[in-house]
Amino acid sequence: MTVSLPLVFDAPRRGMPPRHLADLDAEGRRAAIEELGLPKFRADQIARQYYGRLQADPAQMTDLPAPVREKIGEALFPPLMSVVKHVACDAGETRKTLWRAGDGTLLESVLMRYPDRATLCISSQAGCGMACPFCATGQGGLNRNLSTAEIVDQVRAAAAAMRDGEVAGGPGRLSNIVFMGMGEPLANYKRVVAAVRRITSPPPDGFGISQRNVVVSTVGLAPAIRKLADEDLSVTLAVSLHTPDDELRDTLVPVNNRWPVAEVLDAARYYADKSGRRVSIEYALIRDINDQGWRADMLGQKLHKALGSRVHVNVIPLNPTPGSKWDASPKPVEAEFVRRVNAQGVPCTVRDTRGQEIAAACGQLAAEG
Ligand code: SAH
Repeated sequence: MTVSLPLVFDAPRRGMPPRHLADLDAEGRRAAIEELGLPKFRADQIARQYYGRLQADPAQMTDLPAPVREKIGEALFPPLMSVVKHVACDAGETRKTLWRAGDGTLLESVLMRYPDRATLCISSQAGCGMACPFCATGQGGLNRNLSTAEIVDQVRAAAAAMRDGEVAGGPGRLSNIVFMGMGEPLANYKRVVAAVRRITSPPPDGFGISQRNVVVSTVGLAPAIRKLADEDLSVTLAVSLHTPDDELRDTLVPVNNRWPVAEVLDAARYYADKSGRRVSIEYALIRDINDQGWRADMLGQKLHKALGSRVHVNVIPLNPTPGSKWDASPKPVEAEFVRRVNAQGVPCTVRDTRGQEIAAACGQLAAEG
């Protein structure tokens, strides 16, 4: 089968918003402050407002003199995106937010509160170019990359919502971030890595969320996985494998035609070696497509060989997308699949599926407006 691979790494800034504070690292923001003719110490003061107090509106930064607020507002806080709507479910513990960026681009993030943590699922691109046939986002193609600030500001808004008690259960703290919303994070590599640094550095450079609580999920762009390993981050890598054999994976995850299973697992192993972290394998279980017992055995064997004990399989019951001919596997089939992967010495569990009735579950994030 021949597929054209829409692999545009770090495409040009088409539709990108103007520069925002959250696009800049410490050095960059100091340079920007100097360009404005302001004293250097203002740079960290502003960053503390944004990352520490989660304040994105310079008018509210009352520790700054009014003329400074105006100046930095124009130069470093262009409007990034506005809320189109919030939709809640799971007794208010899951909340999806639809955002509209400055150029009209729509994107989504989903906040999920659990007894012991609060996880935000964020988008790294508007749309996605990877064309996986079971994923709603994949059907619409890639609109554009998100800027670092557009990624980071999804986190700021959710952290503020948790702090302010906007999610059922009272005030709390945003603790976990997963790059499992719209887009392929490693196809927007530089901006995503910059966003990871902003998310995980302590204030004034970032929100101070533990790297161990951040998951970057990829279809398996092997060279980009290796590059990420060399960044010396300790974020968790999740690989959307979905089947252990190339024949089926070529259709489920079309980029497999370019980087087949063996290469993806090699890269995952390199990531595990460099980071010391377990790699997470995502497996959307699809009835009569990839749920056979022999596939479970093969999955367990291949993963055990490639990654030893440094791997965990997350089975995700397929969320049928509108018009899809595919469905989730029956529960007994799912249980047998999980049992057989575990039997190969590879830990395997079924992921809970939050947000189903608000189209906020895995692979359903195709903004409808
Ligand atoms: N592009 C990245 C991250 C976004 S999707 C990636 O592919 O990993 C996050 C996870 O949801 C991926 O494992 C993806 O395969 C899975 N997913 C997408 N559509 C789904 C669906 N309809 N049902 C279940 N899981 C789905």
